[in-house]
Amino acid sequence: MRYLLLVLLPMLISAEARRPRIAIAGILHESNSFSSVKTPLADFERGGIRRGAEVVEAYAPARHEISGILEGARRFEFEAVPLLAASATPSGPVTAEAFEALTRELAERLNAAGPLDALLLALHGAMVTEAYPHADAEIVRRARAAAGAELPIVVTHDFHANIPEEIVRDSTVLLTYQTNPHVDQFERGLRAAGIAARIARGQVKPAQALAKPPMIYNIRFQNTNAEPLRPVAEESRRLEGEAGILAASVAGGYQYADVPALGPGAVVVTDGDPERARREAARLSEMLWATRGHLRLELPGAADAVRQAMESPRRPVVLAEMGDNIGGGSAGDATFLLAELIRQKASGWFVAIADPAAVERAAHAGVGRPFEGLVGAKTDKLHGEPVRVRGRVKSLHDGRYLETEVRHGGQRYHDQGLTAVIEVEGSAPEELNLLMLTTRRQTPFSLHQLISCGVYPERQRILVVKAAIAFRAAYEPIAARIIEVDTGGVTAVNPARFTYRLARRPLFGLE
Ligand SMILES: [Zn+2]
Repeated sequence: MRYLLLVLLPMLISAEARRPRIAIAGILHESNSFSSVKTPLADFERGGIRRGAEVVEAYAPARHEISGILEGARRFEFEAVPLLAASATPSGPVTAEAFEALTRELAERLNAAGPLDALLLALHGAMVTEAYPHADAEIVRRARAAAGAELPIVVTHDFHANIPEEIVRDSTVLLTYQTNPHVDQFERGLRAAGIAARIARGQVKPAQALAKPPMIYNIRFQNTNAEPLRPVAEESRRLEGEAGILAASVAGGYQYADVPALGPGAVVVTDGDPERARREAARLSEMLWATRGHLRLELPGAADAVRQAMESPRRPVVLAEMGDNIGGGSAGDATFLLAELIRQKASGWFVAIADPAAVERAAHAGVGRPFEGLVGAKTDKLHGEPVRVRGRVKSLHDGRYLETEVRHGGQRYHDQGLTAVIEVEGSAPEELNLLMLTTRRQTPFSLHQLISCGVYPERQRILVVKAAIAFRAAYEPIAARIIEVDTGGVTAVNPARFTYRLARRPLFGLE
């Protein structure tokens, strides 16, 4: 018996030693080339820079791709070596200083990690820095330089990635979310982890290819639950069910990054069949191109949209202020719809505006006290004029809330800073005009942004959201109607409002 143990023990130990060691890292930012607000390191610190075990603590309870990767370590039996995870709310290009600091730390942690069998790297795919239009490709290049040419690198991307050839060449596997609103982040992380584990065990040899149609896919049409994009997204999912296909992705692209590889793209990863990868990527790309006849922009302006919302017999009507899409890097303080609601004497509306100075004024006045002052449009000149608001401070909040459902972004804990709700004049007992003033700009991806501050979204007649598509996961279940509004701002839906310098041309939808 003792002899048997002596024989078995080294075998057990070597089996344990064969459990792959896979590093996990993420540097995520969606950068709007047209924004005047740069993204410094402080924005990543605010968004959270997690190191080592902190990565597990922060992401294990969420529905992010890094959460899926962590679950994958358990399910596919590899040792997770968390290095670094940093993200910041979409804004202007990342400063050179922030990019150098984050990539230097990633390289140092890779070097200090000991022997690794693979690296799982969560990147957005539309990060622009002062020096690199395709900063994600540069991160992969630096990770490879630090970890060696042989280390398999499996990259996950957001659906809004503008994918250049370089990153497909320098990574071993690249896959994107397949949904917008993004509700499959966890599942995509899990799939990436499974592929990394199989590569580490020598079970698969990935070959990947990228194909891009000569177009932009306007953000207005990037809903994977609706025509014309739905069949293409469905086809990528179907393809992943075929033997020999490790991953199939269709990225919609991000039109506010002025970069050479601007626009959508398809990436297919096969097990050892580069020709099949090329063929299938080209086919998905062709499917995108074939939908171009349906991509015509015909959206109402602010005045028209407010009129339509007031006439609607059912409530609530959601007005999407497309030009001030916070998730697309905008300021969150545009006043086009607020001004129009007041001008047309609409009632029962809700608008949230990021305006730290106005929050302070409200807090200083106190709950129940009168409030009067200019609100919004303070970041730059692109987002309307400050609007004079009269009313009273209805409530004050610390701005923290919890989202337990699967919503765009996969985050659970939210913090928009000190928040004031102003009951604006013209309110009736059942038709409150509510203006939420937030210290930080906050993406409207959760109804708990309202509920946690005592606002019942179903009771409002009109809800304004500063978003394009992503809000739908939270708002579609309660909205009687959604009206997309063509407003100005750094995320204006019409690309003719911007001057592109680096984007490849010609591109359908941009000319
Ligand atoms: Zn996205």
